[in-house]
Amino acid sequence: MAVGESQSRVASPIRLGPAVCEKDAKALQFIDEMTTNTDSVQERVLGEILSQNAETEYLRRYQLDGVTDRDSFKSKIPVVSYEDLQPYIQRIANGDRSPILSSRPISEFLTSSGTSAGERKLMPTIYEEWDRRSKLYSLLMPVMNLYVPGLDKGKGLYFLFVKAETKTPSGLLARPVLTGYYKSDHFKTRPYDPYTVYTSPDEAILCADSFQSLYTQMLCGLLMREEVLRLGAVFASGLLRAIRFLQLNWKELAHDISTGTLNPKITDPSLKECMSKIVKPNPELAEFITKECSGENWEGIITRIWPNTKYLDVIVTGAMAQYRPTLDYYSAGLPQSCTMYASSECYFGLNLKPMCKPSEVSYTIMPNMGYFEFLPHDPNAQAFSRDSPPRLVDLADVEVGKEYELIITTYAGLCRYRVGDILQVTGFHNSAPQFRFIRRKNVLLSIDSDKTDESELQKAIDNASELLKEFNTSVVEYTSYADTKSIPGHYVIYWELLVKDPANSPTEEVLNQCCLVMEESMNSVYRQGRVADNSIGPLEIRVVKNGTFEELMDYAISRGASINQYKVPRCVSFNPIMELLDSRKVSVHFSPALPHWTPRRSC
Ligand code: AMP
Repeated sequence: MAVGESQSRVASPIRLGPAVCEKDAKALQFIDEMTTNTDSVQERVLGEILSQNAETEYLRRYQLDGVTDRDSFKSKIPVVSYEDLQPYIQRIANGDRSPILSSRPISEFLTSSGTSAGERKLMPTIYEEWDRRSKLYSLLMPVMNLYVPGLDKGKGLYFLFVKAETKTPSGLLARPVLTGYYKSDHFKTRPYDPYTVYTSPDEAILCADSFQSLYTQMLCGLLMREEVLRLGAVFASGLLRAIRFLQLNWKELAHDISTGTLNPKITDPSLKECMSKIVKPNPELAEFITKECSGENWEGIITRIWPNTKYLDVIVTGAMAQYRPTLDYYSAGLPQSCTMYASSECYFGLNLKPMCKPSEVSYTIMPNMGYFEFLPHDPNAQAFSRDSPPRLVDLADVEVGKEYELIITTYAGLCRYRVGDILQVTGFHNSAPQFRFIRRKNVLLSIDSDKTDESELQKAIDNASELLKEFNTSVVEYTSYADTKSIPGHYVIYWELLVKDPANSPTEEVLNQCCLVMEESMNSVYRQGRVADNSIGPLEIRVVKNGTFEELMDYAISRGASINQYKVPRCVSFNPIMELLDSRKVSVHFSPALPHWTPRRSC
């Protein structure tokens, strides 16, 4: 960034506002302060992290000797990935309470949807981190109130869930970040705020049984349908899962509404008690639900049932962009608002224009959340070595238009850690850069929070191919596709087979079994989505005619690909290619059962 550019950004700061109330004014002022002083806040944050953690084994190992300046930090501390930190993390998980990564006690592990060796990554966190994260949450409504008036006059219907939690060998909790947040006092004892009144009672959100949780959240949403002003879930896939749930369960829901009774499948005692105070007979409403839901046409169902909804609050950026058209269909084109960008490792920032089009969403990273550096992203670059470390750019110095990989240093002890997200700078708010989420590195397929990379897919193909050996058959080519037209979405794998002995070709049953073997080979986040969350449908194999992949190559070359460099794409999403593949389909197979999954970790 040119110096003059930086000064002009600070010279005439943009102030957010006017705020609708005093509380909002304070939040907006905080955003103004953070975004006008990006670099100095970053310097302070790094200083705080390094002095707080000066005596940790990790920083001592790199001989930082208590210094807290950026230059020493950058010259001595390496850029790392999860695998580099795993030995330290494993020791913490096993009960070593010495200050390894953080001087503050590790309060729990947050289990990321990113995996390592097939298991969720364990991200250490410290208790005070919830304060920082809650602070970021508290900024979202003041920003939204600038664009959508009157949100205090009604409620939010949000489908929020807790997921399975486990303990490490030493008894530390390991659970997804939102499960940790909803179970924390920050959420459970939050003060009343007219701008964050939800239709779902906490008992429903905190019920670990996903059917009971979703059923009661939907029931409350239906009972209070006129009051609902915004509707959402964390990710688009979650909101669509709720719509599918309504398609499958509206009769039982309408029965409860009609009679004022509660479905006997709701057995959780505290949930039953709390619902008994909410459910009252309302035959007229039940009739309305029956009329709307029994029809074939579900187009615009969201606006029909919740007519006062002003927007959908749901992440539709990154891997979730594939759900935008389906959400448009069910919501008759309601605005889709992406408010926040966050991860288990650290919460990053917020969207200061939450009502913009999904394709224009940019997130402003808040410089108080951690220390952020940016690795210029070159998709063709070789992996870097310790001897020639890359030059990282500071938050205030990134350049508009360029793509970077996000590197974070957190209060909980991650130092120069590669998150794996690729971001592009779209502009600045004051001196704080704004980023478009481009993609997560190495992710080939994703339906919900699962992220399957090329090597995982290859391993799954290899394992499934074992079943074909006795039929003298092999997979000669394959590609994949995340089919999100069905709810839940599912993985589709196109196979071209070489059957050497047509008289003994693989049976229908064997090919179905191949689907299941592939699912068993996937990482635990995928299998949890299949088994516990019901957020991913059975994997499908489509066998295509011999020669199909050669045709695919011809097609790519006709569109300008170089014949020398052509590689079979391991994932496709371009319609004409899928049409070509589907037109050559000879058989279709689905996984006949669920793969194995337990909340327990295998390593
Ligand atoms: P997890 O650690 O499982 O919570 O996953 C965090 C990851 O989800 C991030 O590193 C991103 O790859 C992705 N993610 C989170 N928020 C967004 C967002 N607003 N848009 C796109 N991707 C996101």
